[in-house]
Amino acid sequence: MFITIDGIDGAGKSTQLDLLCELLRSHGHRLARFRDPGSTPVGESIREILLHREDIPLCGTTEMLLYMASRAQLVQDLVAPALERGETVVSDRFLLANVVYQGSAGGIAPNLIWQVGKIATKGLEPNKTILLDLPPEIAFQRIQRGQDRLEKRGLAYFEKVRSGFLEQVPFAGPEHLIIDATQSIDAIHQAIARFVLP
Ligand code: ADP
Ligand code: MG
Repeated sequence: MFITIDGIDGAGKSTQLDLLCELLRSHGHRLARFRDPGSTPVGESIREILLHREDIPLCGTTEMLLYMASRAQLVQDLVAPALERGETVVSDRFLLANVVYQGSAGGIAPNLIWQVGKIATKGLEPNKTILLDLPPEIAFQRIQRGQDRLEKRGLAYFEKVRSGFLEQVPFAGPEHLIIDATQSIDAIHQAIARFVLP
């Protein structure tokens, strides 16, 4: 089984992934946990460029394709082999975020990004997609470190990201769950547990 979790920065993805991994382990799952972009050597180098090298200018298309390149390596080297070994794969973000940030909020047609995504993933979709939905102003309050970037892009941009997630999540795979991420950490975890456990 392949599970992904998504939502804007500060929505609680890392917090909920920690809890979900603990839960799945306690239910006997062998786990493989990844982050997208990243997780492979080339993926982590691409991640560094995408998230931290503001001195390297990237046009929107290059940015979209770098995410895809990282994801192609991730699927090929890590996700597909782990699934073949019968492990449960959990990923912090996947193709959906690429569609939303570079598409819905970034100006590239979302359906084109889904198409490029099929090349990067060889058609592999998460079985279950979890979307943590949070108003950007609350995410803004939760994270200190991201504030510069948030302020630079502006609240209107993050409203587009939020509505893009809500609009695109049905296309991410066969099953998805949208969770109101203003709830307590425990309430969110319980909702995820009900969705993920048989
Ligand atoms: P993400 O990985 O989506 O960026 P994090 O899990 O790092 O989000 O959470 C961002 C911040 O918000 C952290 O300080 C975390 O402790 C806090 N947080 C996470 N979930 C909740 C919640 N449900 N209610 C309040 N604060 C939360
Ligand atoms: Mg995180």
